[in-house]
Amino acid sequence: LIVGIPREAYPNEHRVAITPQNTALLLKKGFRRVLVERGAGVEAQFTDNAFEQAGATLVEREHVWSDSDILLKVRAPSFEGANNEVDLLRENGTLISFMYPAQNRALVDKLASRGANSFAMDMIPRISRAQVFDALSSMANIAGYKAVLEASNHFGSFLTGQVTAAGKIPPCKILIIGAGVAGLSAIATARRMGAIVRAFDTRAAAREQVQSLGAEFIEVNLKEEGSGTGGYAKEMSKEFIEAEMKLFMKQCQEVDIVITTALIPGRPAPKLITEEMIAAMKPGSVIVDLAAEAGGNCAKTVPGKLAKHNDVTIIGYTDLPSRLPTQSSTLYSNNITKFLLSMSPQDKHFGIDLTDEVVRGSIVTQAGEVLPPAPRPAPP
Ligand code: NAD
Repeated sequence: LIVGIPREAYPNEHRVAITPQNTALLLKKGFRRVLVERGAGVEAQFTDNAFEQAGATLVEREHVWSDSDILLKVRAPSFEGANNEVDLLRENGTLISFMYPAQNRALVDKLASRGANSFAMDMIPRISRAQVFDALSSMANIAGYKAVLEASNHFGSFLTGQVTAAGKIPPCKILIIGAGVAGLSAIATARRMGAIVRAFDTRAAAREQVQSLGAEFIEVNLKEEGSGTGGYAKEMSKEFIEAEMKLFMKQCQEVDIVITTALIPGRPAPKLITEEMIAAMKPGSVIVDLAAEAGGNCAKTVPGKLAKHNDVTIIGYTDLPSRLPTQSSTLYSNNITKFLLSMSPQDKHFGIDLTDEVVRGSIVTQAGEVLPPAPRPAPP
């Protein structure tokens, strides 16, 4: 079987789906060839030479798509306009990438019409066995880390406190809203950089995780559990949201940086930081809104952009993992390679086993048939 790695064509996308190291692994495991589009890894610092040394065959764009049995990508393929990637896919070929099928129905239909087998990395069930394939967590971890660095770049002082001959510098205070994968990564990074960190989440389980990273878990005086199906957040009552926003109003007057990560799967992001709260922040404060792509947690976020409101910088970048392309490509490559290998247990024999919960959860189309949503597992 031949595996193909195209160069990502989406504007400002710097990641590549696999690294030279995983190229060598696939060849060792019995895949006949790995075709890599010339320049595919350059922006992530993986040179053509490094891919060649790992055993890859460098080819031009159209050959990656037409000559590969299995295509590995980061972003969902484009399916219209001059650069229509789905039309380049070999009929009955297999594609694995981020896809967000529920939001991209037209893409799913297009893949089905080409008879493709396709898998969405974003649909891999978050069960223990599938943690090694969990690219959403890998990218959220990077986004949380990078959020702190971006905030620090736009903040005029140290994050850590210092006593110097020129005077005593107080540590920066950071509020992190939402302590899922990205939020916890932001907490850990901010703590390592010496900031005082406070965090809030609606799920009670988050408290211990926040505290174990050396941050303070702040709470409202209202008992309501935020954990819904599968450990994911559910939408909270109006009373709870009002109570947490009251807490944030007070916090905004005290902290220097706010990083928001609050998301509810399949719903728009809750609006938690109002114009009034921004106005209450100190001049020079920074907000990083990691929920920008889902509409944003902050009223003044401009998705994909850096905005200013009063004297507060509001960062709404939606491509934070791509801004750390070597690291994000390395982790994504490990996730996607292990996922592919899990479907190829007998070396060359790639096979789709729909009784496998991870395969069934992430498969989008099979030989032209649209398969999601996956059935719920039968009760024990
Ligand atoms: P997410 O990105 O969907 O949401 C981020 C956080 O926002 C969540 O912690 C959520 O509780 C919080 N949130 C939602 N509404 C809020 C509000 N109004 N105010 C404050 N916070 C709010 O979440 P995620 O990072 O993908 O992870 C969610 C859960 O899934 C966690 O429990 C995590 O441990 C779990 N998880 C499990 C696995 C696994 O088992 N393999 C992998 C990844 C994540």
